Amino acid sequence: MGNLVVTGGTRGIGAACVRLAARRGWSVCINYRANDALAAGLVREIDDSGGRGIAIQGDVAVEAEVIDLFDRAERAFGPVTGVINNAGILAVAAPLADIGLDRWNATMATNLTGAFLVVREAVRRMARPNGGAGGAIVNVSSMAAVLGAANEFIDYAASKGALDTLTIGAAKEVAANGIRINGVRPGLIDTDIHAGSDPNRLARLLATVPMQRIGAPAEVANVILWLLSDEASYCTGVTIDVSGGR
Ligand code: NAP
Repeated sequence: MGNLVVTGGTRGIGAACVRLAARRGWSVCINYRANDALAAGLVREIDDSGGRGIAIQGDVAVEAEVIDLFDRAERAFGPVTGVINNAGILAVAAPLADIGLDRWNATMATNLTGAFLVVREAVRRMARPNGGAGGAIVNVSSMAAVLGAANEFIDYAASKGALDTLTIGAAKEVAANGIRINGVRPGLIDTDIHAGSDPNRLARLLATVPMQRIGAPAEVANVILWLLSDEASYCTGVTIDVSGGR
């Protein structure tokens, strides 16, 4: 099937992508920042079910660590042909007036600079004119990019808005080089990310979801894996909302 790098692959949406991709036959390189035990457990789970996976620690906000991630992924399973650019962070809910520069910079470093570094590294290696094998990249954005996240985290929303623009421009730039780049905008999805921001957020905002329920990580993973697949062979530069209509 190919060699897939999933950033932030140990929890939430990333872990759902890892599990689904392994079941579909991808060799999966699971990147994460801090939790070694979780990563090792996920690799064991994939091994036990007959799949192929490795864990690769690295901070996507650090250029050398992103280069190392791709080097190690290639050594493990050959040329990388799929990337899920998923690692992301969310700070404590706060109005714009209370957002400090450190927080702003930290959010941008992971969510935007990190995503840029991952796309750049993938494109450098996948591009057919450079001898690459081509491939597909999916950027994990957020509905916050279009809703704005007023009074909660406009830093996060702005980072995801910029990511959507990166998806459009990068996709056009490399479309002729055998690389497709698309995105998803998840809505309210049941993962750990909300715990450090506002533990009551999902319950508080449930009524704003037209489908009247919170999404599961697997429902986002299904769309991401479709965008990676040949079934989406004529899609590039698009970002799909996965938000229950929100
Ligand atoms: P999560 O449960 O908090 O998991 C985040 C993952 O990212 C973890 O594996 C974490 O690894 C990793 N990570 C964080 N910072 C990293 C860094 N600098 N370098 C490498 N890995 C890093 O998050 P999630 O809810 O699944 O979110 C995944 C993506 O979906 C994010 O981009 C998020 O913005 C987006 N999203 C989520 C929702 C939602 O409702 N959940 C909605 C819209 C968009 P460690 O555990 O090792 O730190």
